[in-house]
Order: sequence, then structure tokens, then C-alpha cells
Amino acid sequence: MSQLESPLLNQVGGYIDGQWVHSEGRSIAVINPATGDHLADAPDMDADQAQLAVESAERAGQRDIPIAKRRRWLEEITRLLNDNQSELARIITLEQGKPLSESASEVQYAAGFFQYYSRHLDRLESEPLAEHPHQLNWTVHHRPAGVVGLITPWNFPLAMLAKKLSAALAAGCTTVTKPAELTPLTTIALWNLLQTLDLDKGRANLVIGQPKPIGEVLCTHPAVRLISFTGSTEVGRLLMASTAPQIKRLGLELGGNAPFIVMEDANLPNAVQALMANKFRCAGQTCVCTNRVYVQASVEKEFIAMAAERIRLLRVGNGLDAQTQIGPLIHRQAFDKVDRHVKEALSHGAKRIVGADRPRPTHDWGAFYTPTLLSNVNSKMLVSQQETFGPVVAVQSFESIDQIVELANGTPYGLAAYVFGQNEREMADLIGRLRFGHVGWNTGSGPTPEAPFGGMKQSGFGREGGVEGLLEFCETQTVARKI
Ligand code: ADP
Repeated sequence: MSQLESPLLNQVGGYIDGQWVHSEGRSIAVINPATGDHLADAPDMDADQAQLAVESAERAGQRDIPIAKRRRWLEEITRLLNDNQSELARIITLEQGKPLSESASEVQYAAGFFQYYSRHLDRLESEPLAEHPHQLNWTVHHRPAGVVGLITPWNFPLAMLAKKLSAALAAGCTTVTKPAELTPLTTIALWNLLQTLDLDKGRANLVIGQPKPIGEVLCTHPAVRLISFTGSTEVGRLLMASTAPQIKRLGLELGGNAPFIVMEDANLPNAVQALMANKFRCAGQTCVCTNRVYVQASVEKEFIAMAAERIRLLRVGNGLDAQTQIGPLIHRQAFDKVDRHVKEALSHGAKRIVGADRPRPTHDWGAFYTPTLLSNVNSKMLVSQQETFGPVVAVQSFESIDQIVELANGTPYGLAAYVFGQNEREMADLIGRLRFGHVGWNTGSGPTPEAPFGGMKQSGFGREGGVEGLLEFCETQTVARKI
């Protein structure tokens, strides 16, 4: 079997205690979702290796790394990501499927987190209190949380890790990373870069393999004090249960079901433009992607006509082709889910304005789904109830603010929402009533390194980005000292 040639994949392995490691006789085949090509065999590491990684991180955690040195690491990683942007982007597209231009943006976005934290490390300096209660001096210290487990998904194999690793290294934590088994090569490429830095042994361990045994070690080993996870609500719930006996801290960035709300006074061309950029990124496979589109009844027809014109023009194909705007879905099951949602909506009265019946892919790969626009959708349909995670725009209409608040908040999720309208007071009131951690107002923009991002309700808790994202990886220690 051929291995993907890349200067960033000279080593294809896990990384424990400053050494590359492999898994005897077992491996995970990494497949290009556009073509079915076998890209590489990644290691399939076991629970014992995960345990070694945690122990290595625990030993490394005994040493306190000065803030100046952490800052230098973050600056160097920023530089390495920027210098290797195009090769990292190629690897992301090969194993994940998204268009190359999106992969390049992902690398830039990832670099932005390391850069942001390199510039905000002063926030971790100890803070003496101005007050002297009980005639004592009080100082607040921000200590590293300890060994942290970082578990990441396949839709943004670099960026989702960058959010966590940048903040963890900034805070002085030692880390064990477990990437998604579908897209481990981007993470391995990152480690090919990290190995050139003077990170101390055990600072950044990488364990690749089946999620259950590795997850169990991270959840049950007493040295791991925090798990930062991005993935499904289902696995998030499982992590909460498994870490409960040891009262571990968690950061959970879970599923969303983002509403996109268009009021009748909205600038419609702007709203449609925002929808296109937001909805179709990564073929609709992002947790902040619009899932439910609500348009005020008086402008619904016009909005649908404008959106249809744009959606019809989208070019689907291999992400390596410069023309491609929508790549394949990650695998056959993802295709089947989207297909099931659309068919269920159609059978309950939805109307397909754009789209087509596609033959099912005969393999796990090549799952290209035709961008689809549905109207006459209602809240009971699967496209509204669940995250479809595909290139499907499902439109329903609404009449009043009270109704839209109820509809938008009417799922167990609360990650991202988007609102379009011009009436300042009305929009401020609407936003205040939405139970979503991120709201785009007249924009479909998602998160950025400079601002805290995270969910409400069953979309999870904890924040990534901003100073809040840094403090997630710290323990506050308060020292009261006799004057
Ligand atoms: P998705 O449905 O998007 O694939 P998952 O929640 O299944 O999301 O996966 C996100 C990450 O969580 C991946 O790295 C996956 O391997 C990991 N994961 C899945 N199951 C477990 C588990 N039981 N324990 C720990 N990690 C898990």
C-alpha cells in the first residue's frame, strides 16, 4: 500500500515522551473521501500506550515553564503553521475532502489561535488584590490545570486542535491529544513540525487509535484533570459520566442546530450572501453551520428565489480541483443521513426547489451530495430536529418575534444562531432572548481566536478563544499572606 508523500509526513506515528511510537501489527487505514485512495496507515495505539502518554505528561507537569518560554513556543508554532500553510492544506483536503481554499483558511485560522495566545499571556501573571481583607495580602495565581486530554473531530482536523493546544500550552499544561481516527494525518503533520521545537519531553503527546480504550484512560487516569472535547453531544454525555467519579473538569463543544433568522426588513442580498458562506463551508459539516432557515413570511418567496439562484451554481467535486466549492461528505453514513433527512422532509410535504436524487455511493467514499434547497419545511421534520450536517438549506416561514424566539430556541442545542434585520431595538431584544453562545447579527461569521466561543444547553459548556479560552486551562489559586 502506498503512503502519502509529504515532507510533513516523514514520520507517521504517535508521539510519546518525545519519541515517535507505532502500534505493532495494527493500523488504521486513512482514506481520501473524494476518491477512495488509500493515503496512509496511521497507528492504532492501545490503552497501554495511552497510559504511557499520560504518565509522560504527568512527569513533564512537575516542571513549571516560565511564561516567556511558553510565549516563544506559541510564536514558533504560529510561524511553522504559516510557513507550511499550503502543504498542511493539501493534507487536510486529502483526508477530509473540503476544498483546498477552505483548508488554507483553516490553517490560517489555526495559526491565529497560537498567535492570539502568544500576545495575551500576560493575562496569566499573578494578580495582587487591591483590598486587604482580614489585614492580609491576597494574591490570585493562574496555575496550569495539570495533564489535559484533547479530543478532536474530523471536520476541522487542525483548527479544533489548535484552539485547545494553543490555550493548553499557554497555560503551562501538559497534553495528550487524541485526534479523530478518520483524519489523523493533519495532526501527525503538526507533530512533524512540533518535534523541531524545544518542547520538553511529555509536553505534547499524541495518541492515535480507537476512541473507546484511549478515551477510557483519559477519563479514568487520576493525573488527567481536564478533558477538552469537540464532537457529538452523545460522546460528550458519555465523557461527563465517565469522568464524574473523579470530578474532572471538562470543556465540551458539542453539536449545534443553528437557526438563521431573516426578518422582513433585512438586507436580503446580504443575508443570502451570508447564508452561502456559512451554510456550505465544509459541505455543511460544521457545528456552527446553519441548519434551520427561518424567513419572515412577507419576504420568504423573494429570499428563496435569490438563494436558489446561488445554490444552483455551486460546483461539487474533488477538493483538490480549484473550481470545487463543495467536496464530498466524510463517508457513506454521512451521505445516508443527509439523504434520509431530505427524503423524510419531502414525504411530509417539503418542496425541493434545488437538488436532485443522487445514486447512493457504492463505497464508503465518494459521498458527493447535491446542494439542496427545501421550502415548506416544518419543525417536526428531521431537518429541523437534528443537525443534518450536509449541504441542505431547509426554509420555513414565521410571522412574529415571539414565534421565532420559540422556534429558534425549540431544540436542546444552543451553539450558534444568525439574525438578519435592521430594527436596532427589535434585533437587540431578539438576540437577548436567544439561548445560543454565539450570535451573528447581519453576518454569518463563526468564531474567531480573539473572542470566546462555546455552547449553551446541550451544545456543551466552556469557552474556546479569547481570554476565557485561556482560563479554561488554568486553576485559580488564591494565596492569603500575613502582612
Ligand atoms: P462525530 O459524530 O462528529 O464523528 P464523535 O463525537 O463521534 O463525533 O467524535 C469526536 C471525537 O471523539 C473523535 O476524536 C472520536 O474518536 C472521539 N470519540 C468517540 N467516541 C469516544 C469515546 N467513547 N471516548 C472518547 N472519545 C471518543
